Amino acid sequence: MSVEPNLANLIPSSLVTIQPVSLMAAREQDVTVDLLRLDSIHPVISGNKYFKLKYHVEAAIDSGSKGILSFGGAYSNHLAALACYCHDAGLQSVGVIRGEHPMNPSPTISLAAGYGMKHVFVSRSEYKNSQILNEQMSREFPGFMIVPEGGRSGHGVKGASEILAAADTARYNIIACAVGTGTMMAGLLQGISESQMVMGFSSLKLKAGNDVELYVRSHADSKKYMISYDYHFGGYAKITPTLIDYMNQLWLGEKIQTDFVYTAKMMFGIQDYVKKNLFPPGSRILAVHSGGLQGNQSLQHRLLF
Ligand SMILES: *Cc1c(COP(=O)(O)O)cnc(C)c1O
Repeated sequence: MSVEPNLANLIPSSLVTIQPVSLMAAREQDVTVDLLRLDSIHPVISGNKYFKLKYHVEAAIDSGSKGILSFGGAYSNHLAALACYCHDAGLQSVGVIRGEHPMNPSPTISLAAGYGMKHVFVSRSEYKNSQILNEQMSREFPGFMIVPEGGRSGHGVKGASEILAAADTARYNIIACAVGTGTMMAGLLQGISESQMVMGFSSLKLKAGNDVELYVRSHADSKKYMISYDYHFGGYAKITPTLIDYMNQLWLGEKIQTDFVYTAKMMFGIQDYVKKNLFPPGSRILAVHSGGLQGNQSLQHRLLF
């Protein structure tokens, strides 16, 4: 199979667009919120995953690896994107899934398997010990490049540092994003100018000073940032009726689809800040729509319009 060496540049930045969110603007305060649509760049290699994976894929090709092995949950956007990206790049892929083999594979696992991803299921306790698991996997899959969960590595941060260059983003002073592993936020911090700050909304229930925050801080240099821990809605991938109502409101009112794990919680947080007048007057907020809509397949269909 021939390998396309420029695959990392496959997605033209013209596919990244900016859309105003009129529902959120606060005219009296002169605050506006726009959305950076990374979700529309590719149907599967969606959102921030494309940026976080591109240098991993490039490195795997350059080093002559057979493929890429990485880790995630049964609905992982990261593994779905990895499977498709590797398939297009002529690489094999392995997804190590947290949790026992389910009776029925999740739609994400089926999608990834369609791109040739081989899945390995490990118990939650085995999954937690990443060092032993990494060693075990490199023995089982020799010649594969191992990418940490969520693409959290120097390659992942470097790719994410290019997100803001994909559109005309210099006029914003606050860049808002969802935070999972913190890789995208670390990259955004490297990509901002002196007059900008990054505001992260944690999708995990964490306390200040946690490992994600330390990771972000180590990439901040002297750049300004904050992480809010007030909009996780009970924890990672947890939902409430309020969150679901809000997602439906965004869809019906603005034709914006969000995912319940990350972008819906970020948007709710921004909306709440606007409502409480917490943004300084004149704030120009750019919210990163980091994709990940496939994960909504784990919701009961009747919840979303
Ligand atoms: C993976 C993902 C994130 C989290 O990105 P990190 O770099 O892990 O913080 C945010 N939003 C969406 C839609 C995602 O799929």
